[in-house]
Amino acid sequence: MLYRFGDQMTSRIERIAITHHQLDLNPAFPASWDTQPRKKFPATVVRIFDQDGNMGIGSGDVMYGFSDYEYLFIGQNPLDLERHNAVLGNIGFHAGRPWPLDIALWDLAGKIRGEACWKMMGGRNQRVRTYASSGVHRGPEDSVQMALHAIERGFPALKLRFGRPSLADDFLVLSAVREAVGDKLELMVDCNQGWRMPWDISRPWNVEKAVEIARKLEKFNVHWMEEPLHRGDYEGYKTLRQQVGIRIAGGELTREEYEFDTLLRNECLDIYQPDVACTLGMEGQRRLAAKVEERGHIFTPHTWGNGVGLAANLHIAAGATSGAGFVEFPYDPPEWSTARRDFLLTETIEPDAHGWVNLSDAPGLGVELNEDVLIATQSKESTWV
Ligand SMILES: [Mg+2]
Repeated sequence: MLYRFGDQMTSRIERIAITHHQLDLNPAFPASWDTQPRKKFPATVVRIFDQDGNMGIGSGDVMYGFSDYEYLFIGQNPLDLERHNAVLGNIGFHAGRPWPLDIALWDLAGKIRGEACWKMMGGRNQRVRTYASSGVHRGPEDSVQMALHAIERGFPALKLRFGRPSLADDFLVLSAVREAVGDKLELMVDCNQGWRMPWDISRPWNVEKAVEIARKLEKFNVHWMEEPLHRGDYEGYKTLRQQVGIRIAGGELTREEYEFDTLLRNECLDIYQPDVACTLGMEGQRRLAAKVEERGHIFTPHTWGNGVGLAANLHIAAGATSGAGFVEFPYDPPEWSTARRDFLLTETIEPDAHGWVNLSDAPGLGVELNEDVLIATQSKESTWV
């Protein structure tokens, strides 16, 4: 137990406000994992206030159905974070995923305590080393340009996306990039087999196919192979990991602590990638990070939302882990720039010249909302004042 905040005297939670926003994307963002180019980037902002006027912020999923359960938080001690996390886990069964509120609760708790979230998480590191996570299917030449840009920008690693109409085309890109960068960049490959858009009914790969592709990836010295199977194919992951040498990553779409425990028990993965905006919340992630590292594996969060979710995931990776893993940094300009990703913040989150993101000592998440932009992009009736 790294902390116990809930028995401290404090003011009470007074209210919660949820607003919805949309940034127009022109030109559109052709996300490699979505067959429909994205013309809008939606964001839900959750604010939680205590009686002293402190405000915590969170963002992520839409918070469908949460209003029915809001009363469970009003009047509660904001520092009772374990209780709130458990209640949110239950709400996640009855309604949509409510994890943005957990992020907001930690931001609020940090502001009340005058402490940064990375410290509250365990304080093991104040910085994290990131990798550029690409999001667009480019051809070989453009992919090489992107990889050279990533080196110039200081990233130590780049994640490429598979999933073009032909696997041969995916390997052409990987081969061209490896040839161009030599050993100056670690390369990861995301197979995105756990991810399905609602209209996408194609079957994920089976273990035989994943083994065959893993062996080819090994020849290109790929650092990890991500989501080569459906998220629930525990037997497949276990077999794959026994048969190949390449590191296997996954877990970005795994929802329950019990499912992560099953992945761990079956030795399914080398790299565990939950996303705090989508699952477990800050406390659940901190607990999972400890379990993953205890077994000698790597915990490094997935993060493909906006800057608030990225900030929360960076605080977890910094404070709660040994710092062994590269952390995802969504970056594929011009289609996916830091300005687009972090549009709801006053400042974009940027790594230094060697790929490190340095976290501040500012209380909570250390990020601020850009209120003008939020007003201009508000998409529904909700206001927070
Ligand atoms: Mg992924």
